[in-house]
Amino acid sequence: MDSHRGSRSAVIVGAGVAGLTAAIALARTGWRVEIAEAASDRSTAGWGLCLTGPSLRALDELGLAEACLAAGYGMSAITHVDVEGMAADQVELPRLIGAQRPAMVGIARPELHRILHAEAERCGAVIHHGMTVTAVEQAADRVDVRLSDGTERRVALLVGADGIRSSVRDLLGLRTSIDYLGQMVWRALVPRPAWATGIHQFAGKVDTAGLVPISEGRAYVFLTENGVSPSVVPAAELAQRLAELLTVFPGRVAQLRPLVSASDSVVRRPVQTALLTGAWHRGHGVVIGDAAHAPAPQMASGAALAIEDGLVLARELARHATVGAGLAAFVDRRVARCRALVQTSVTIAALEQEQRHNEAYPLVDAGHRQLAELA
Ligand SMILES: Cc1cc2nc3c(=O)[nH]c(=O)nc-3n(C[C@H](O)[C@H](O)[C@H](O)COP(=O)(O)OP(=O)(O)OC[C@H]3O[C@@H](n4cnc5c(N)ncnc54)[C@H](O)[C@@H]3O)c2cc1C
Repeated sequence: MDSHRGSRSAVIVGAGVAGLTAAIALARTGWRVEIAEAASDRSTAGWGLCLTGPSLRALDELGLAEACLAAGYGMSAITHVDVEGMAADQVELPRLIGAQRPAMVGIARPELHRILHAEAERCGAVIHHGMTVTAVEQAADRVDVRLSDGTERRVALLVGADGIRSSVRDLLGLRTSIDYLGQMVWRALVPRPAWATGIHQFAGKVDTAGLVPISEGRAYVFLTENGVSPSVVPAAELAQRLAELLTVFPGRVAQLRPLVSASDSVVRRPVQTALLTGAWHRGHGVVIGDAAHAPAPQMASGAALAIEDGLVLARELARHATVGAGLAAFVDRRVARCRALVQTSVTIAALEQEQRHNEAYPLVDAGHRQLAELA
């Protein structure tokens, strides 16, 4: 067994947003960190995401907000457009990293991961690709972790940051259900139209569409398809099918349709949530990010919670004499905030499906203001 002796060695499973930020925060507070990531290389699939204020605030604490703003598209407002194509509401989000800097940033997922990977490695974290965890054995003062290459690690901390279908959650015996909310979400990378200087969300008679800039030159179109069973659309048909679903939207969406038809980057995924209602930790193992609390994407804040988790985990472990006490304090600080976001996102998804957009907008606004409070 490769015994990483000493009380400050950790294995993190998953090199997503949660795993990489936890690695950075732990390594900076003196932990020796190894990450086991299932993907065979670091080329991240994925289109774009919006990092709202709490994400930027947490990234700023890690000294990474400027890099994300430089790689993405900074903005501060969400414009809600009604079914007639008229602007119904504009929400200015709180600027949590200073009045002179934007409230949020749209960024391509591979760009965000490039920044986080580079910083994790600069801090000394070792990242193994094509690797997972196969067995976990707890002892009073450590956890033994078997990896898929047959090697083992004896460490003080195991962090499951392996997403909504977390294996670590299962290995630790923590149970949750994964719920499908009756929506499929589409995303297509398109050139950024000049008018798209913030997020636009378009209410439809059945579905909801939107546009998020992710750089000077690019944006992604999203569409939430309501009341459908999870099904697979052949890759060759994705762009055309999405363009067809957009035909019922008036106004600016009409300008987006030809861009979507021409896009070679279109995906369609189920909207799912998961929330651990019991413990998040057992012995020296803990789950963070989507493995513990996966919201629906409507509040664009799942990554914020994942990044905050990494920061708060490292902070609480540094403040407590034992790993057990640090983990208990971490979970105590995170549960209410993460539960509230998951529940709000589920409510918004339900209101969207009933076309009760005017009730959803104030909830989105209130939810962002609640998240603006410190983690
Ligand atoms: C369609 C969609 C749009 C979204 N948009 C936004 C948005 O705009 N803003 C926002 O803040 N959030 C958004 N989210 C939510 C956000 O993407 C997640 O909350 C965030 O990615 C969670 O990070 P994570 O690191 O916990 O999990 P993940 O990003 O899922 O990362 C998990 C990592 O673990 C790896 N892994 C999985 N299983 C194993 C295993 N057994 N062994 C080793 N490695 C493993 C995976 O390969 C992956 O690298 C969106 C989510 C969806 C589905």
